[in-house]
Amino acid sequence: MTSISSPIIGLAGGIGSGKSTITKHFNQLGIQSVDADDVARLIVEPNTHCLNRIHQRYGDDILLEDKSLNRRALRDIIFNQPQEKTWLETLTHPAIRSEIQIQLKKISSPYGLLVHPLLFETKQNSLCEFVIAIDIPADIQIQRVMSRDNVNRDNAEKIMATQLSNAERIKRADLILENSGSISDMNAKVLILHHKILESLPC
Ligand code: ADP
Repeated sequence: MTSISSPIIGLAGGIGSGKSTITKHFNQLGIQSVDADDVARLIVEPNTHCLNRIHQRYGDDILLEDKSLNRRALRDIIFNQPQEKTWLETLTHPAIRSEIQIQLKKISSPYGLLVHPLLFETKQNSLCEFVIAIDIPADIQIQRVMSRDNVNRDNAEKIMATQLSNAERIKRADLILENSGSISDMNAKVLILHHKILESLPC
């Protein structure tokens, strides 16, 4: 592992668990973050090695008119063909991991957050001092994904099935942040957690 200046804390949670909402609040408290979803989008931008390989494999239909990735087309391919999902992950995961490490090294706040829907699944918890898992009942999670992404229950459940269950993630985490209440409840919990983390850091 490359050396990283600020201690990194993992924030793990499935789709719709509240990672972005929670991260925004940490950011307002001055804590910098690296979001694996943003990095995953960055490494397939036009003219990247990853997008060029994807284009070679699937042809022009995988690109939109402006030459950016047609995510919906790619999602359809990997949902229906497990071997293609493996091919894609073999291509993108190392690129994501390496870009995440580059971005983590730039963090200068007292600690930084690595926000990741697949933190344990991709073993990137190894980049973190410790990991906070977001706890949310599956029913609330599904409702939030359905209303945010305008997808049906079936699609929301399909994506969740590719990720660790809430219970499994919690078992592996060091701290739990419960996010089934209101946004202001959650903001109050983040503030308490933030102060606890600051107190626990070496001077
Ligand atoms: P993730 O980044 O983990 O996919 P988001 O932070 O985007 O999840 O949250 C999913 C949806 O749920 C968003 O529409 C967000 O506004 C909403 N949300 C998150 N936390 C809460 C909460 N405590 N109360 C109500 N809605 C929430």
